Amino acid sequence: MVLRSVLTSFFLLFLFPFPAALSHPSKTNTRNPVHLAARSYDVPVKGGMVRVRLAEGDYVLSDEEVLDWVRRCALAVNSYYGEFPVKRLNLNIRNGRGNSVRGGVTYQYQPPFINIMVGAFATPETLLDDWVLTHEMTHLGFPTVDDNHDWMEEGMATYIEPWERMRVGIQSREDVWRELVTNLPKGQPGNGDQGLSNTKTWGRTYWGGALFYFVADVEIRKQSRNKYGLEDAMRAIVAKGGTIPYDWEPIQICEAADKTLGLHVMTKLYQQMSSKPVEVDLNAMWKQLGVVVDGNGQVSFNDRAPLAAVRRGIEKKS
Ligand SMILES: [Zn+2]
Repeated sequence: MVLRSVLTSFFLLFLFPFPAALSHPSKTNTRNPVHLAARSYDVPVKGGMVRVRLAEGDYVLSDEEVLDWVRRCALAVNSYYGEFPVKRLNLNIRNGRGNSVRGGVTYQYQPPFINIMVGAFATPETLLDDWVLTHEMTHLGFPTVDDNHDWMEEGMATYIEPWERMRVGIQSREDVWRELVTNLPKGQPGNGDQGLSNTKTWGRTYWGGALFYFVADVEIRKQSRNKYGLEDAMRAIVAKGGTIPYDWEPIQICEAADKTLGLHVMTKLYQQMSSKPVEVDLNAMWKQLGVVVDGNGQVSFNDRAPLAAVRRGIEKKS
């Protein structure tokens, strides 16, 4: 989720009352929550620095386990973008009840700001399973668009995050394909749909947007004979300054990618899918890519499928 620049400096001061790292007693992961005061750390990642502020509260997790999670999510994002999309990120970790990670929001601010909640009973396993922080960090590597085009922001983070986590070994390629086969149909246009930019439902925003980027990924690879993929489009946009603090027009984003890659994929797809309902023949795409999911959810691959090389390109770390 992305919010435009609604934060005042007062609010930021409230969230970041201690600009320097605070010392605090180390603790072991006993599985019994320990009450800790607010503290903050500067975590270097390739291409940038993340200032992590942990709110006062009860934690089963040690700070080092939380920081490992932050590093792992940044590594996942970097596997797609080459390096962290922004030089600085302020990451505020709230403390809550329960054992989950939830409520992630990325704010369009300079430097960008992510707010996320970690439950008092969350464990290292919770953090390994978590996709939310990777999703939020992926938002950093994309400009902010007008609310009508939320699908451009949410779709890209929804489609890219699973590949990022696959590329750093957190989940298998089978898991990612199964998820796409299961969820992409939720993004197809329904009755009365008027295109992605005019239909603000959850399904069209997240999975309809993901559908756009999935088709773009396949098309970029087909047309470039697998020389480029969606990650090259994303890197091109970031290289031209298209990161979350900046407002861009959708067409400007598509052109930045297309021009760098010497293709006409994203602009054309945007023109087709933004203002008209476009049903994507997903069954035909799975067949062409050689992705087979049986009735039990078991995934297998057909390496003789016409676009099997494109499928492997999507999976591959570049
Ligand atoms: Zn999001």
